[in-house]
Amino acid sequence: MKASQPPRINPCPFCLSRKVQLQTSGKKLSPAFIQCMDCHARSRLYPDVSEAILAWNRTPGTS
Ligand SMILES: [Zn+2]
Repeated sequence: MKASQPPRINPCPFCLSRKVQLQTSGKKLSPAFIQCMDCHARSRLYPDVSEAILAWNRTPGTS
C-alpha cells in the first residue's frame, strides 16, 4: 500500500521562513502539527496530517 503524498507546506506566514516542519509521531491517524524552526510558531494540533498542512497554508500572516 502506497502512502499518499501530503500536500506541500507553505513557508511560515509569520517570518516567511521555509524551515517549517511537519511534527507527527509517525503513527497512522496520529495528531500532527506544523512548526516553524525559525520563529517557533506552530499550528494547532490536528488529527490528520493533511488537515494540519492545509490549515497551516490557510494561516493568515502578519500584515
Ligand atoms: Zn516563522
